[in-house]
Amino acid sequence: MTSGLLAVSYIGASILFILSLGGLSHQETARRGNVYGIIGMAIAIVATAMTGNVTNYAVLIPAVTVGGILGVTIALRVEMTQMPQLVAMLNSMVGLAAVLVAIASHLNPSFELTRAELIILDVEIYLSVLIGIVTFTGSVVAFAKLQALISGRPLLLPGRNWLNLLVAVALLWLAYEFLLAGNGAVPGPSLLGPISQNPALLPLGSFGLLLILVVIVLGGLLGIHFVLAIGGADMPVVVSVLNSYSGWAAAATGFMLGNDLLIVTGALVGSSGAILSYIMCRAMNRNFVSVILGGFGTEGGTITAGIDGEAVATTHEETADLLANAKNVIIVPGYGMAVAQAQNAVSDVVEKLRAGGTNVRFGIHPVAGRLPGHMNVLLADAKVPYDIVLEMDDINEDFPETDAVLVIGANDIVNPGAAEDPNSPIAGMPILEVWNARTVVVLKRSMATGYAGVENPLFFKENSRMLFGDAKESVQTVLSHLTN
Ligand code: NDP
Repeated sequence: MTSGLLAVSYIGASILFILSLGGLSHQETARRGNVYGIIGMAIAIVATAMTGNVTNYAVLIPAVTVGGILGVTIALRVEMTQMPQLVAMLNSMVGLAAVLVAIASHLNPSFELTRAELIILDVEIYLSVLIGIVTFTGSVVAFAKLQALISGRPLLLPGRNWLNLLVAVALLWLAYEFLLAGNGAVPGPSLLGPISQNPALLPLGSFGLLLILVVIVLGGLLGIHFVLAIGGADMPVVVSVLNSYSGWAAAATGFMLGNDLLIVTGALVGSSGAILSYIMCRAMNRNFVSVILGGFGTEGGTITAGIDGEAVATTHEETADLLANAKNVIIVPGYGMAVAQAQNAVSDVVEKLRAGGTNVRFGIHPVAGRLPGHMNVLLADAKVPYDIVLEMDDINEDFPETDAVLVIGANDIVNPGAAEDPNSPIAGMPILEVWNARTVVVLKRSMATGYAGVENPLFFKENSRMLFGDAKESVQTVLSHLTN
């Protein structure tokens, strides 16, 4: 492929990736965004495979085929509730790829370099290895936490911040030693002179490789410790931070390979992951630094003491009556709706109520469920019209004028403790203020806590009713009573 055609392909793919990100930010355009991304990636893979640098098709073609089949199979099988785990797993792959490509570049710097270029290459190799390994091990631990293979509780080693600082200082020193082992810090030929003038300075030395292995061990431990120290409720932010890291690792690899498209793509993933992490922190009222430092959710996580009142159970018939007589209804879905796969039944109830002239809308919290946009995807899948699905900030003020609220499998995102109890572990997290409505019906199976492990005073409010049972079965039964 000529360099002109390659440049055009890369620019085209970059534009498609930007359009894809733009499309994914709105429910109406998300499918189109996905298609842009797929076309962009197909162009990127084909164009890169056809550059002069790629010669070993006997390895490339089987690898792409196996990878493609694996990707399609996993994507078809994964449940919506397992999506964060999938993202964590994919992030780990990007991290691992960055480490492996960096080691390969260190062992075989395949192009003619000046000394200055070699220093830059060494910096890129070092950053790829470090960011890549932190992303890899951190993502594996995040996967294990989300999949409940290990406890979601934060692991708090004594002096853990000092421990991290010590490792960070050691990694800085290793960076210096690595440049020294390559050629960076050694007085030698002029910066612009070719390194071939002084073969002793080539970075092939086993000492450099040894240093890389030490960085892999230390960086790997740092990634494990970093994620182990973070509590379950902050895991969405961590997955997003690791997604951002994976982007930066890919960008560093792009610099290392001199691949402009990889730099652009890595920067897009890195910066969008960082922005998403910031938005999520804001949605949970968590300070970004405190999330990274970990430890959230250690204070036992319950505020049962001081909760007044009694939880009152209701029936399907009563709930159907309530809905049938309401003019304004807001539905607040949460993780339980995803677990129960209740979205289609919910959609049927909405259709029925709207046909009868009821104003039905949805209130979506930014971290409802287990990944950003989780509820939007489920509702879109169940053909709920986009225009009645509103973000938290657009609907929160409407609860006082609402006759009935259905909270379907949501818990933390409607916990008044966040607003009313400064001692609550989730104090300050913005929430949907459902209790301001005339009546709130909470659909869940028991009085169990949600993801953050915090008791919910909403269940004990005077205008709250509990409709116990699996969300899908409950909604279907309510629907059958609405029909009769
Ligand atoms: P929660 O996890 O707080 O609560 C979900 C509730 O659903 C539980 O209390 C559970 O109660 C109920 N439930 C579970 N299964 C069913 C079922 N089959 N039928 C009916 N109810 C069911 O969910 P929220 O959506 O309110 O809050 C999200 C939480 O997850 C927040 O703490 C957020 O920080 C965190 N998080 C968010 C992510 C994101 O990006 N959106 C990612 C990871 C975590 P019971 O067992 O009694 O039925």
